[in-house]
Amino acid sequence: MTVTPDIPVHLVDRPRAGGLVVPWITPATAGGGLYLFGTIDGLSQYRCVTRRLCQVCGRRLGERAVLFARESDLLHQCAAEPAVCPPCAAYSRRACPMLAGRRHQYRAGNHPALAGTPMTASQVLRQAAPAEPWYAVWIRDYDVVDHPAQPGTLAASWQRIPPRRIRPLPATA
Ligand SMILES: [Zn+2]
Repeated sequence: MTVTPDIPVHLVDRPRAGGLVVPWITPATAGGGLYLFGTIDGLSQYRCVTRRLCQVCGRRLGERAVLFARESDLLHQCAAEPAVCPPCAAYSRRACPMLAGRRHQYRAGNHPALAGTPMTASQVLRQAAPAEPWYAVWIRDYDVVDHPAQPGTLAASWQRIPPRRIRPLPATA
């Protein structure tokens, strides 16, 4: 069954693929037209984290934002996955196969369109890793840190700025 959730008003102008909004951070192939869902563009990740932009709509984050974190991120109190604004968080929870619990394993191996393209560290991190439970970490702000477990990758840290709340995402069938 194809799930194509309603698209929020602020995302109607974004490109779409398969009925889903293409996040601002999602890289496209050099010729355009093919979006590499599930991969992160290293430069875009850097821009998102350092400029405090939402990784889905690309707009500046306000005083409420969400970091989707895995259990391993909770241990380090930081996430390399850039934050999202609340409306994009609600959309992502419905649209993203990982967050919606519809995919239980990351893609194994490389995307065919990426064959021969060197992957960034963060792309490698997303590939073929076992799926973990996800948590929504509601933050007011974050510090930009070098990820303790992934040297050379920036992460958003809530160690110094206590999050508003941390909620497990319900696992859906
Ligand atoms: Zn957004």
